[in-house]
Amino acid sequence: MIEPILPGAVVGVLGSGQLGRMFAIAARRMGYRVHTFSPDADTPTGQVADVEVIAAYEDLDAVRQFARDVKVVTFEFENVPAETAAAAGQFAPVRPAGHILHTTQHRVREKTFLTGAGLPLTPFRTVHSSDDLARAVAELGTPSILKTADFGYDGKGQVRLNAPADAEPAWTSIGRVPAVLEAFIPFEREVSVVAARSASGDFTDWGVVENRHRNRILDVTIAPAPITSDVARRAREITRTVLEKLEVVGVLCVEFFVRPGGDLLINELAPRPHNSGHFTFDASLTSQFEQQLRAVCGLPLGATDLLRPAAMANLLGDLWTEKDPDWGAAAAFPDVKLHLYGKLAPRPGRKMGHLTALAADPETALRDVLAARAALTR
Ligand code: AMP
Repeated sequence: MIEPILPGAVVGVLGSGQLGRMFAIAARRMGYRVHTFSPDADTPTGQVADVEVIAAYEDLDAVRQFARDVKVVTFEFENVPAETAAAAGQFAPVRPAGHILHTTQHRVREKTFLTGAGLPLTPFRTVHSSDDLARAVAELGTPSILKTADFGYDGKGQVRLNAPADAEPAWTSIGRVPAVLEAFIPFEREVSVVAARSASGDFTDWGVVENRHRNRILDVTIAPAPITSDVARRAREITRTVLEKLEVVGVLCVEFFVRPGGDLLINELAPRPHNSGHFTFDASLTSQFEQQLRAVCGLPLGATDLLRPAAMANLLGDLWTEKDPDWGAAAAFPDVKLHLYGKLAPRPGRKMGHLTALAADPETALRDVLAARAALTR
Protein backbone atom coordinates (compact mmCIF):
# COMPACT_ATOMS: atom_id res chain seq x y z
CA MET A 1 0.00 0.00 0.00
CA ILE A 2 1.10 3.56 -0.61
CA GLU A 3 0.52 6.43 1.78
CA PRO A 4 -2.62 8.22 0.50
CA ILE A 5 -2.26 11.79 -0.69
CA LEU A 6 -5.24 13.59 0.80
CA PRO A 7 -7.26 16.68 -0.15
CA GLY A 8 -5.32 19.87 0.51
CA ALA A 9 -2.19 18.38 -1.08
CA VAL A 10 -0.74 19.64 -4.37
CA VAL A 11 -0.94 17.37 -7.41
CA GLY A 12 1.19 18.07 -10.50
CA VAL A 13 0.18 17.57 -14.13
CA LEU A 14 2.65 17.40 -17.00
CA GLY A 15 0.86 18.83 -20.01
CA SER A 16 -1.71 21.59 -20.12
CA GLY A 17 -4.50 20.67 -22.54
CA GLN A 18 -8.15 19.81 -22.03
CA LEU A 19 -7.43 16.51 -20.29
CA GLY A 20 -5.40 18.34 -17.66
CA ARG A 21 -8.12 20.97 -17.41
CA MET A 22 -10.82 18.42 -16.62
CA PHE A 23 -8.45 16.62 -14.22
CA ALA A 24 -7.79 19.96 -12.49
CA ILE A 25 -11.52 20.70 -12.23
CA ALA A 26 -12.07 17.28 -10.60
CA ALA A 27 -9.10 17.79 -8.28
CA ARG A 28 -10.10 21.28 -7.19
CA ARG A 29 -13.64 20.09 -6.56
CA MET A 30 -12.18 17.63 -4.06
CA GLY A 31 -10.04 20.29 -2.39
CA TYR A 32 -6.66 19.51 -3.95
CA ARG A 33 -4.35 22.13 -5.37
CA VAL A 34 -3.07 21.70 -8.91
CA HIS A 35 0.18 22.72 -10.58
CA THR A 36 0.58 22.27 -14.33
CA PHE A 37 3.78 22.22 -16.41
CA SER A 38 4.08 22.85 -20.14
CA PRO A 39 5.85 25.19 -22.57
CA ASP A 40 2.72 27.28 -23.10
CA ALA A 41 0.98 30.14 -21.27
CA ASP A 42 -2.72 30.71 -20.52
CA THR A 43 -3.47 27.07 -21.29
CA PRO A 44 -6.66 25.05 -20.82
CA THR A 45 -5.16 23.50 -17.66
CA GLY A 46 -3.35 26.63 -16.51
CA GLN A 47 -6.61 28.60 -16.52
CA VAL A 48 -8.03 26.37 -13.76
CA ALA A 49 -4.83 25.31 -11.96
CA ASP A 50 -3.40 27.07 -8.91
CA VAL A 51 0.01 27.40 -10.56
CA GLU A 52 0.99 27.28 -14.25
CA VAL A 53 4.69 26.57 -14.74
CA ILE A 54 5.89 27.55 -18.22
CA ALA A 55 9.06 25.74 -19.30
CA ALA A 56 10.25 23.29 -21.92
CA TYR A 57 9.87 19.57 -21.13
CA GLU A 58 13.63 19.34 -21.79
CA ASP A 59 14.37 21.88 -19.03
CA LEU A 60 15.07 19.21 -16.43
CA ASP A 61 15.97 21.70 -13.68
CA ALA A 62 12.52 23.25 -14.08
CA VAL A 63 10.97 19.77 -14.06
CA ARG A 64 12.78 18.89 -10.82
CA GLN A 65 11.66 22.13 -9.19
CA PHE A 66 8.08 21.43 -10.30
CA ALA A 67 8.25 17.93 -8.78
CA ARG A 68 9.65 19.28 -5.48
CA ASP A 69 6.54 21.44 -5.08
CA VAL A 70 3.97 18.65 -5.53
CA LYS A 71 3.07 15.36 -3.80
CA VAL A 72 2.54 13.33 -6.99
CA VAL A 73 3.10 13.90 -10.70
CA THR A 74 0.71 12.65 -13.35
CA PHE A 75 0.43 13.56 -17.01
CA GLU A 76 -2.26 14.35 -19.53
CA PHE A 77 0.00 14.15 -22.56
CA GLU A 78 1.87 10.91 -23.13
CA ASN A 79 4.56 12.33 -25.38
CA VAL A 80 6.36 13.81 -22.41
CA PRO A 81 10.02 12.73 -22.92
CA ALA A 82 11.16 9.77 -20.79
CA GLU A 83 13.93 11.97 -19.28
CA THR A 84 11.27 14.42 -18.10
CA ALA A 85 9.36 11.70 -16.27
CA ALA A 86 12.62 10.38 -14.81
CA ALA A 87 13.68 13.84 -13.59
CA ALA A 88 10.27 14.38 -11.97
CA GLY A 89 10.53 10.93 -10.40
CA GLN A 90 13.58 12.02 -8.39
CA PHE A 91 11.35 14.21 -6.23
CA ALA A 92 7.79 12.86 -6.44
CA PRO A 93 6.12 9.62 -7.50
CA VAL A 94 5.12 9.66 -11.19
CA ARG A 95 1.86 7.81 -11.84
CA PRO A 96 1.35 6.05 -14.18
CA ALA A 97 5.06 5.17 -14.04
CA GLY A 98 7.57 6.35 -16.63
CA HIS A 99 8.00 2.84 -18.07
CA ILE A 100 4.34 2.95 -19.16
CA LEU A 101 4.94 6.21 -21.02
CA HIS A 102 8.01 4.69 -22.62
CA THR A 103 6.02 1.69 -23.88
CA THR A 104 2.97 3.57 -25.09
CA GLN A 105 4.69 6.50 -26.79
CA HIS A 106 6.18 4.32 -29.49
CA ARG A 107 4.10 2.08 -31.75
CA VAL A 108 6.71 -0.66 -32.06
CA ARG A 109 7.24 -0.90 -28.30
CA GLU A 110 3.50 -0.82 -27.69
CA LYS A 111 2.78 -3.52 -30.27
CA THR A 112 5.69 -5.64 -29.02
CA PHE A 113 4.24 -5.45 -25.51
CA LEU A 114 0.75 -6.41 -26.73
CA THR A 115 2.09 -9.32 -28.78
CA GLY A 116 4.11 -10.54 -25.79
CA ALA A 117 1.01 -10.34 -23.59
CA GLY A 118 -0.81 -12.60 -26.07
CA LEU A 119 -3.40 -9.93 -26.87
CA PRO A 120 -5.05 -9.51 -30.29
CA LEU A 121 -3.84 -6.54 -32.33
CA THR A 122 -3.87 -5.26 -35.89
CA PRO A 123 -1.29 -7.19 -37.97
CA PHE A 124 1.81 -5.00 -38.46
CA ARG A 125 5.42 -4.93 -39.65
CA THR A 126 8.23 -2.65 -38.49
CA VAL A 127 9.77 -0.41 -41.18
CA HIS A 128 13.33 0.93 -40.86
CA SER A 129 14.44 0.71 -44.51
CA SER A 130 13.16 0.49 -48.08
CA ASP A 131 13.73 -3.28 -47.94
CA ASP A 132 11.60 -3.56 -44.78
CA LEU A 133 8.89 -1.52 -46.47
CA ALA A 134 8.86 -3.65 -49.63
CA ARG A 135 8.71 -6.85 -47.55
CA ALA A 136 5.95 -5.44 -45.33
CA VAL A 137 3.81 -4.48 -48.33
CA ALA A 138 4.36 -7.91 -49.88
CA GLU A 139 3.31 -9.63 -46.65
CA LEU A 140 0.38 -7.43 -45.53
CA GLY A 141 -0.82 -6.28 -48.96
CA THR A 142 -2.84 -3.15 -49.68
CA PRO A 143 -4.82 -1.27 -48.62
CA SER A 144 -2.64 -0.73 -45.57
CA ILE A 145 -1.63 2.20 -43.38
CA LEU A 146 1.90 3.43 -42.77
CA LYS A 147 2.28 5.16 -39.38
CA THR A 148 5.28 6.82 -37.76
CA ALA A 149 6.61 4.72 -34.85
CA ASP A 150 6.66 7.79 -32.63
CA PHE A 151 3.06 8.63 -31.95
CA GLY A 152 1.41 11.38 -33.80
CA TYR A 153 -2.09 11.77 -32.52
CA ASP A 154 -5.43 12.32 -34.21
CA GLY A 155 -4.26 10.58 -37.35
CA LYS A 156 -1.13 12.69 -37.85
CA GLY A 157 1.91 10.88 -39.30
CA GLN A 158 -0.29 8.34 -41.09
CA VAL A 159 -0.65 7.59 -44.78
CA ARG A 160 -2.89 5.07 -46.46
CA LEU A 161 -1.38 2.86 -49.19
CA ASN A 162 -3.89 1.86 -51.84
CA ALA A 163 -1.34 0.05 -54.03
CA PRO A 164 2.25 -1.19 -53.58
CA ALA A 165 3.50 1.73 -55.72
CA ASP A 166 2.26 4.13 -52.99
CA ALA A 167 4.74 2.72 -50.47
CA GLU A 168 7.93 4.69 -51.19
CA PRO A 169 6.21 8.07 -51.72
CA ALA A 170 4.19 7.46 -48.54
CA TRP A 171 7.31 6.77 -46.49
CA THR A 172 8.96 9.88 -47.93
CA SER A 173 5.89 11.95 -47.01
CA ILE A 174 6.29 11.01 -43.33
CA GLY A 175 10.01 11.81 -43.44
CA ARG A 176 11.47 8.28 -43.88
CA VAL A 177 11.47 7.93 -40.09
CA PRO A 178 11.00 4.56 -38.33
CA ALA A 179 7.44 3.43 -38.97
CA VAL A 180 5.01 0.54 -38.84
CA LEU A 181 2.90 -0.76 -41.67
CA GLU A 182 -0.52 -1.94 -40.49
CA ALA A 183 -2.99 -4.06 -42.39
CA PHE A 184 -6.12 -2.03 -43.15
CA ILE A 185 -8.94 -3.47 -41.04
CA PRO A 186 -12.42 -3.38 -42.61
CA PHE A 187 -14.07 -2.97 -39.21
CA GLU A 188 -17.75 -3.10 -38.33
CA ARG A 189 -17.24 -0.43 -35.70
CA GLU A 190 -14.62 1.10 -33.43
CA VAL A 191 -14.98 0.82 -29.67
CA SER A 192 -12.91 1.67 -26.63
CA VAL A 193 -12.72 0.86 -22.96
CA VAL A 194 -11.45 3.46 -20.50
CA ALA A 195 -10.36 1.84 -17.25
CA ALA A 196 -8.53 2.62 -14.04
CA ARG A 197 -6.33 0.66 -11.67
CA SER A 198 -5.51 1.71 -8.13
CA ALA A 199 -2.23 1.40 -6.25
CA SER A 200 -3.66 -1.63 -4.44
CA GLY A 201 -4.58 -3.31 -7.74
CA ASP A 202 -8.32 -2.62 -7.80
CA PHE A 203 -9.78 -2.26 -11.28
CA THR A 204 -12.78 -0.35 -12.65
CA ASP A 205 -13.93 0.51 -16.14
CA TRP A 206 -16.73 2.49 -17.77
CA GLY A 207 -17.88 -0.29 -20.08
CA VAL A 208 -17.51 -0.37 -23.84
CA VAL A 209 -18.33 2.72 -25.91
CA GLU A 210 -18.59 3.20 -29.66
CA ASN A 211 -16.39 5.79 -31.37
CA ARG A 212 -17.05 7.31 -34.76
CA HIS A 213 -14.23 9.24 -36.40
CA ARG A 214 -14.20 11.92 -39.06
CA ASN A 215 -10.91 12.63 -40.88
CA ARG A 216 -9.27 10.22 -38.38
CA ILE A 217 -10.29 12.49 -35.46
CA LEU A 218 -12.85 11.29 -32.91
CA ASP A 219 -16.20 12.81 -33.79
CA VAL A 220 -18.76 11.14 -31.52
CA THR A 221 -18.81 8.58 -28.70
CA ILE A 222 -21.91 6.57 -27.82
CA ALA A 223 -22.22 4.98 -24.36
CA PRO A 224 -22.90 2.14 -24.09
CA ALA A 225 -21.82 0.72 -27.48
CA PRO A 226 -24.45 -1.31 -29.37
CA ILE A 227 -22.56 -4.61 -29.19
CA THR A 228 -23.29 -8.05 -27.81
CA SER A 229 -22.58 -8.83 -24.16
CA ASP A 230 -19.98 -11.36 -25.32
CA VAL A 231 -17.98 -8.77 -27.29
CA ALA A 232 -18.28 -6.33 -24.39
CA ARG A 233 -17.05 -8.93 -21.90
CA ARG A 234 -14.02 -9.75 -24.07
CA ALA A 235 -13.12 -6.08 -24.60
CA ARG A 236 -13.24 -5.47 -20.85
CA GLU A 237 -11.17 -8.59 -20.10
CA ILE A 238 -8.50 -7.54 -22.60
CA THR A 239 -8.45 -4.04 -21.10
CA ARG A 240 -8.04 -5.43 -17.61
CA THR A 241 -5.14 -7.58 -18.79
CA VAL A 242 -3.44 -4.51 -20.33
CA LEU A 243 -3.69 -2.51 -17.10
CA GLU A 244 -2.52 -5.42 -14.97
CA LYS A 245 0.42 -6.40 -17.19
CA LEU A 246 1.57 -2.77 -17.40
CA GLU A 247 0.92 -2.35 -13.65
CA VAL A 248 -0.88 0.91 -14.39
CA VAL A 249 -1.70 3.16 -11.44
CA GLY A 250 -4.02 5.63 -13.11
CA VAL A 251 -6.30 5.62 -16.14
CA LEU A 252 -5.70 3.95 -19.49
CA CYS A 253 -7.80 3.64 -22.64
CA VAL A 254 -7.73 0.72 -25.06
CA GLU A 255 -9.05 1.42 -28.56
CA PHE A 256 -10.33 -1.53 -30.57
CA PHE A 257 -11.54 -2.42 -34.03
CA VAL A 258 -14.54 -4.79 -33.99
CA ARG A 259 -14.54 -6.97 -37.08
CA PRO A 260 -17.73 -8.31 -38.66
CA GLY A 261 -18.43 -11.44 -36.58
CA GLY A 262 -17.23 -9.79 -33.35
CA ASP A 263 -13.46 -10.40 -33.29
CA LEU A 264 -11.58 -7.63 -31.49
CA LEU A 265 -8.23 -6.16 -32.50
CA ILE A 266 -6.43 -3.55 -30.41
CA ASN A 267 -5.68 -0.40 -32.40
CA GLU A 268 -3.81 1.54 -29.73
CA LEU A 269 -3.43 2.43 -26.06
CA ALA A 270 -3.48 5.80 -24.30
CA PRO A 271 -2.13 5.80 -20.70
CA ARG A 272 -4.38 8.65 -19.51
CA PRO A 273 -7.99 9.82 -19.62
CA HIS A 274 -9.20 9.71 -23.20
CA ASN A 275 -11.53 11.71 -25.42
CA SER A 276 -13.82 8.67 -25.60
CA GLY A 277 -14.24 8.91 -21.80
CA HIS A 278 -15.29 12.56 -21.70
CA PHE A 279 -18.94 11.53 -21.33
CA THR A 280 -18.07 10.18 -17.86
CA PHE A 281 -17.70 13.76 -16.59
CA ASP A 282 -21.48 14.17 -16.80
CA ALA A 283 -22.87 10.69 -17.19
CA SER A 284 -21.01 8.53 -14.65
CA LEU A 285 -21.01 8.41 -10.87
CA THR A 286 -17.22 8.89 -10.95
CA SER A 287 -15.60 10.50 -13.99
CA GLN A 288 -12.37 9.32 -15.61
CA PHE A 289 -10.72 12.49 -14.28
CA GLU A 290 -11.76 11.97 -10.68
CA GLN A 291 -10.69 8.34 -10.99
CA GLN A 292 -7.25 9.37 -12.26
CA LEU A 293 -6.96 11.63 -9.23
CA ARG A 294 -8.09 8.89 -6.84
CA ALA A 295 -5.72 6.34 -8.39
CA VAL A 296 -2.62 8.53 -8.45
CA CYS A 297 -3.32 9.79 -4.91
CA GLY A 298 -3.65 6.25 -3.55
CA LEU A 299 -7.33 6.63 -2.69
CA PRO A 300 -9.92 3.88 -3.24
CA LEU A 301 -11.54 4.04 -6.69
CA GLY A 302 -15.08 5.42 -7.09
CA ALA A 303 -18.05 3.60 -8.61
CA THR A 304 -18.32 3.96 -12.39
CA ASP A 305 -22.07 3.38 -12.86
CA LEU A 306 -23.51 5.06 -15.94
CA LEU A 307 -26.24 7.38 -14.62
CA ARG A 308 -28.00 7.50 -18.02
CA PRO A 309 -27.01 6.47 -21.55
CA ALA A 310 -24.97 9.24 -23.15
CA ALA A 311 -23.40 10.54 -26.33
CA MET A 312 -20.49 12.95 -26.71
CA ALA A 313 -19.75 15.10 -29.77
CA ASN A 314 -16.47 16.94 -30.21
CA LEU A 315 -16.44 20.63 -31.11
CA LEU A 316 -13.55 21.29 -33.48
CA GLY A 317 -12.20 24.67 -34.51
CA ASP A 318 -13.97 24.24 -37.85
CA LEU A 319 -17.21 25.34 -36.17
CA TRP A 320 -15.83 28.86 -35.78
CA THR A 321 -16.38 31.01 -38.87
CA GLU A 322 -16.54 34.81 -38.96
CA LYS A 323 -18.74 34.54 -35.88
CA ASP A 324 -18.56 32.34 -32.80
CA PRO A 325 -20.84 29.30 -32.54
CA ASP A 326 -24.26 30.09 -31.09
CA TRP A 327 -23.78 28.83 -27.53
CA GLY A 328 -27.27 29.93 -26.57
CA ALA A 329 -28.73 27.52 -29.12
CA ALA A 330 -26.89 24.59 -27.52
CA ALA A 331 -27.97 25.72 -24.07
CA ALA A 332 -31.58 25.38 -25.25
CA PHE A 333 -31.16 21.57 -25.10
CA PRO A 334 -31.86 20.82 -21.43
CA ASP A 335 -30.19 17.39 -21.43
CA VAL A 336 -27.00 18.55 -23.17
CA LYS A 337 -23.92 19.76 -21.31
CA LEU A 338 -21.43 22.17 -22.91
CA HIS A 339 -17.69 21.95 -22.23
CA LEU A 340 -15.27 24.51 -23.65
CA TYR A 341 -11.55 24.21 -23.06
CA GLY A 342 -10.54 27.87 -23.03
CA LYS A 343 -8.29 27.55 -26.08
CA LEU A 344 -7.48 30.91 -27.55
CA ALA A 345 -7.23 30.12 -31.28
CA PRO A 346 -9.88 28.00 -33.03
CA ARG A 347 -7.96 26.23 -35.79
CA PRO A 348 -9.55 23.64 -38.11
CA GLY A 349 -9.21 20.15 -36.59
CA ARG A 350 -8.36 21.55 -33.13
CA LYS A 351 -10.42 20.17 -30.25
CA MET A 352 -12.04 23.25 -28.69
CA GLY A 353 -14.73 21.61 -26.57
CA HIS A 354 -17.42 18.96 -26.53
CA LEU A 355 -21.10 18.39 -25.88
CA THR A 356 -22.53 15.50 -23.87
CA ALA A 357 -26.19 14.48 -24.06
CA LEU A 358 -27.87 12.21 -21.51
CA ALA A 359 -31.06 10.36 -22.47
CA ALA A 360 -33.18 7.30 -21.78
CA ASP A 361 -31.34 5.35 -24.49
CA PRO A 362 -28.10 5.83 -26.46
CA GLU A 363 -29.86 6.46 -29.79
CA THR A 364 -31.77 9.41 -28.32
CA ALA A 365 -28.61 10.74 -26.70
CA LEU A 366 -26.84 10.58 -30.07
CA ARG A 367 -29.72 12.33 -31.84
CA ASP A 368 -29.80 15.09 -29.20
CA VAL A 369 -26.07 15.71 -29.14
CA LEU A 370 -25.92 15.95 -32.94
CA ALA A 371 -28.95 18.28 -32.99
CA ALA A 372 -27.33 20.50 -30.36
CA ARG A 373 -24.09 20.64 -32.33
CA ALA A 374 -25.94 21.45 -35.56
CA ALA A 375 -27.77 24.26 -33.75
CA LEU A 376 -24.43 25.95 -32.98
CA THR A 377 -23.89 26.96 -36.58
CA ARG A 378 -27.39 27.41 -37.93
P1 AMP B 1 -4.99 6.09 -34.93
O1 AMP B 1 -4.54 7.50 -34.68
O2 AMP B 1 -3.89 5.15 -35.25
O3 AMP B 1 -5.93 5.59 -33.87
O4 AMP B 1 -5.89 6.18 -36.26
C1 AMP B 1 -6.98 7.07 -36.34
C2 AMP B 1 -8.15 6.40 -37.03
O5 AMP B 1 -7.78 5.97 -38.36
C3 AMP B 1 -8.64 5.14 -36.34
O6 AMP B 1 -9.45 5.42 -35.25
C4 AMP B 1 -9.36 4.46 -37.52
O7 AMP B 1 -10.61 5.08 -37.76
C5 AMP B 1 -8.43 4.74 -38.68
N1 AMP B 1 -7.42 3.66 -38.75
C6 AMP B 1 -6.20 3.66 -38.19
N2 AMP B 1 -5.55 2.49 -38.41
C7 AMP B 1 -6.38 1.71 -39.12
C8 AMP B 1 -6.30 0.38 -39.65
N3 AMP B 1 -5.19 -0.38 -39.50
N4 AMP B 1 -7.37 -0.10 -40.33
C9 AMP B 1 -8.49 0.67 -40.50
N5 AMP B 1 -8.62 1.92 -40.04
C10 AMP B 1 -7.59 2.46 -39.35
